[in-house]
Amino acid sequence: MPNPSASSPDTDRPVVERRQNPSAATALDEATGGLYRKLSELNLFDTLTNRYHSDDFNAARSEYIRTRVNILSIVFAIFAPLWIPLDYLLLDSEDLGTIAFYRLMLFSSMLILLLVNNARKRNLQHSLLCLTLMIAFPAIFYTASLFQLLGGDAALIGYSFIPFLLVAMLSVFPLTILEASVLGAGLIITLLYNDFFAGTLFTLEGFKDLWLISTLLVIALWANQAQLHMLLRLYRQATRDPLTGLLNRRIMMERVKELSKNWKKSERPQVSVLMLDLDRFKRINDTHGHLTGDRVLQAFSQIMKDELRSTDILTRYGGEEFAAILPGSSMDNALKAAERIRMRCEQSWVTSKDNEPVRFTVSIGVGELLQDEGFNEALHRVDNSLYEAKKTGRNKVVQAN
Ligand code: GH3
Ligand code: MG
Ligand code: MG
Repeated sequence: MPNPSASSPDTDRPVVERRQNPSAATALDEATGGLYRKLSELNLFDTLTNRYHSDDFNAARSEYIRTRVNILSIVFAIFAPLWIPLDYLLLDSEDLGTIAFYRLMLFSSMLILLLVNNARKRNLQHSLLCLTLMIAFPAIFYTASLFQLLGGDAALIGYSFIPFLLVAMLSVFPLTILEASVLGAGLIITLLYNDFFAGTLFTLEGFKDLWLISTLLVIALWANQAQLHMLLRLYRQATRDPLTGLLNRRIMMERVKELSKNWKKSERPQVSVLMLDLDRFKRINDTHGHLTGDRVLQAFSQIMKDELRSTDILTRYGGEEFAAILPGSSMDNALKAAERIRMRCEQSWVTSKDNEPVRFTVSIGVGELLQDEGFNEALHRVDNSLYEAKKTGRNKVVQAN
């Protein structure tokens, strides 16, 4: 799209106003008259499924789920046997032994679950599996107990409220709508199954049960949404630079730590590092104002995102300094990527508040992590080559020694 006020050649591309190669999201947005973007801004897609969540966020959410599963498993493990004296007072003597056995089974399964939940190797799938088991074990206990007490006083002594309790418990977890719905549906089916065998499914009692559990599930889903939404927001604030959306330096170092954990086990794969610094950026601020400076920073970040892969770690390192870690990239590929970024900057501009085109260039240092070299040492080497680029004229890519 031509920039109306730009006196630049037609071949040049304005960055911020650029609408070339619209992504699938942009196309969808246009097709739905802006509705897609509005929905995206509400984070609805992020709270529906975890398809678009980053690995970092999955790890953080996994920890939340894991700690809550721990607490609730301990509560179940304590209350399962504690209820035995109450059963003794309220149940027929022929049921006592079986129910006590079921309670001890529930107690042991919760202890095993605690061990599994705290296993050394864990991720989101692992935490979700443990959560499912934490819901499934009491649901199985409930089903087995009701069969044992069929026609007896189950309702009276509080067995029948277990599915409702479990649905209510879902609300303390930051789950996506999909995850919570699957677990909730499992509990509703368990309740209906038991009502069917108790002969109450098609009675007023059965209808009341269904109404109550569905209402609780809707409230739990709402609570899940609120938690997940807040967690996503806090997580973004803590890990991303608000102006450019790139990762911040702290999280970059954490990602590197994660990466290097795997390096020790196998042969270290190729990893390249780019350090990028906008040229004479202070002058842009001084001439056109900070807002225009900010637009340049945003435009530059977009170029980085466009030219590097989604698996690369892109960081706003400081004010107008950026870093990119390219796992699996050789020096050769990293040099090519750096040159692409440099070229795109040279050909791009943003519009100032006076509608003037503001151009910018970048200097880039590039290096490959050497075998047995620490990440900080590599960063230092690459930073030196960036300094070299600045010293020898700017708007260039320099390879680290
Ligand atoms: P060089 O080519 O040597 O890198 O020169 P430079 O002017 O880019 O470097 P210098 O370190 O002197 O200036 C960096 C400037 O970046 C100073 C600071 O005001 C500006 N800056 C830092 N963060 C931001 C920001 O978030 N927005 C804007 N608009 N400017 C920023
Ligand atoms: Mg600079
Ligand atoms: Mg600088």
